[in-house]
Amino acid sequence: MGSKRLDTVADLVRHGLNAQVECRSCRRVVIIPASRLRDQCFAKSIPMKLALVAQHLRCSCGHRGAKIDATGTMIDRGS
Ligand SMILES: [Zn+2]
Repeated sequence: MGSKRLDTVADLVRHGLNAQVECRSCRRVVIIPASRLRDQCFAKSIPMKLALVAQHLRCSCGHRGAKIDATGTMIDRGS
């Protein structure tokens, strides 16, 4: 088990991780590629701090505000 510092979206990208986003309202969990999250930060001028990004994410239930964890699950792995 490592003790990587994962404070920003850029850290996730660097380590090849994805963001596991859990809605604080309905508990829905979605996995978002860190690179996509980074693009959203650029597009919306959101600081790449995970804690800040989490506040901007909106769930499909309409709730804004989530919890972000890093996950090593690769969802776009080529066969
Ligand atoms: Zn939700």
